[in-house]
Amino acid sequence: MPDSLDVDVAIVGGGMVGASLALGLQDLGIDVLLVEGTAPGSSAQSSFDERTTALGNASRRIFEGLGVWADIATQAAPIRTIHVSDAGRFGFARLRAEEQGIDAFGYVVANRVIGAALWQKLTSSKGIVLRVPARPEGVAISADGVQFTVVSDAGARERVSARLVVAADGAHSSVRAAAGIEAEVEDYDQVAIVANVAADHPHDGTAYERFTPSGPIAVLPLYDGTYGVIWSCRPQDAAGVLLLNDDSYMRELQTRFGWRAGRFVRAGGRASYPLKLTRAATTTATRTVLIGNAAQALHPVAGQGFNLGLRDAAMLAEVIANAGVGLPAAGVPGAVHTGADQPGARDTHTSGSTTRVDVGAPDLIHRFAEWRASDRTGVVRFTDGLVKLFGDTRPGMGLLRNLGLLMFDLAPPAKSALARVSAGFGGPTPRLARGLPVREGERS
Ligand SMILES: Cc1cc2nc3c(=O)[nH]c(=O)nc-3n(C[C@H](O)[C@H](O)[C@H](O)COP(=O)(O)OP(=O)(O)OC[C@H]3O[C@@H](n4cnc5c(N)ncnc54)[C@H](O)[C@@H]3O)c2cc1C
Repeated sequence: MPDSLDVDVAIVGGGMVGASLALGLQDLGIDVLLVEGTAPGSSAQSSFDERTTALGNASRRIFEGLGVWADIATQAAPIRTIHVSDAGRFGFARLRAEEQGIDAFGYVVANRVIGAALWQKLTSSKGIVLRVPARPEGVAISADGVQFTVVSDAGARERVSARLVVAADGAHSSVRAAAGIEAEVEDYDQVAIVANVAADHPHDGTAYERFTPSGPIAVLPLYDGTYGVIWSCRPQDAAGVLLLNDDSYMRELQTRFGWRAGRFVRAGGRASYPLKLTRAATTTATRTVLIGNAAQALHPVAGQGFNLGLRDAAMLAEVIANAGVGLPAAGVPGAVHTGADQPGARDTHTSGSTTRVDVGAPDLIHRFAEWRASDRTGVVRFTDGLVKLFGDTRPGMGLLRNLGLLMFDLAPPAKSALARVSAGFGGPTPRLARGLPVREGERS
């Protein structure tokens, strides 16, 4: 093993978002390092646990483009209907995929399955240097570049120089801190308790979201006919729910959720997640980009956190791919503005027969931030607004919400608008999410 590495992009964090970015960069002819702290497949790998994720159609297309969808699809359950209700009230809304002219609103998959597909592809990919389990130490960022030491769990140390560091290391990102970016944290005073539950009959592809005074309960269809349950409750009640035996847990769940999915007859192990909104003040800084939970970690109520993070990864890969990297030297004369007029930016230069572009140049980073801004703001506002709207216990709010749900159920344009949520909330849609290759001019 060499004791120093010089790379274009160093990604810290190989969870669902960081691993996806690495795959998006794999064939671009640039040097990519991925540093992940926990071995995939280990029970300590929290990004790939037994939780389930609802993937929107845009995410499905991104995974198709990254070459991992075929492996994921075998264990993905399509969402054909979405049913939203407010506990103790009459109003509900039902959205059917066929009414929107689509096959499914999205797909529910265990994070473990997504992680296995991504890492299987990564380990067979030649273009990416993987360091796992390992962590960066002493991250130093300047206008000239990024330096740190990768320390493996076995104690090996390597010096790393990178032109761009990508923080994909989750909500408590240490790279974000090293870049001096502040994060605002808002505690929702809720804990999500996640479990697999079987009902007395297999599901019909309906995903349920039921709002209760102590938090929403999502009951999502799984590929084996059972459900993934995400029950959000008050922190003071969470320990009690975790300690219930399976029968008592199912009884309590049935009382709060109702009978629309049938009678719950079997429950698997439970795990809990405190729910907070963590929002970085900015998604970029000198030679630094934040993606996924490192940029924004959301309440799972609308199933948007990973979908948004995957679009971050897809857009960053696109911005880098279309900056002229890896093209024959003759192919890009003057085509790339690397921000050479700005402090610390390096010129494009040729290396061997290809052009080496400074992928950490200010204009490239700025383009990423600009293109992601409205999607990020829209999803954060939508998700946070939903938590607050349905958590509002002021007199009259319940009635208002129910009238809203009823009107929504009767209003096709509103439903279509919600059905399009999975494509993002504005700004350019990443090419991968549109089913196009990451690099312009290439055929899919
Ligand atoms: C209960 C629940 C349900 C959810 N359901 C949905 C859903 O249905 N749809 C949806 O879109 N989203 C959902 N989300 C959100 C989604 O899980 C997250 O947005 C997603 O996991 C973020 O992935 P990430 O890779 O950015 O971060 P993480 O999953 O936190 O991964 C970070 C990675 O970085 C590694 N790491 C951390 N520090 C270091 C370091 N110093 N060095 C090296 N490696 C490091 C970690 O080991 C980990 O692998 C849900 C969240 C919860 C809590």
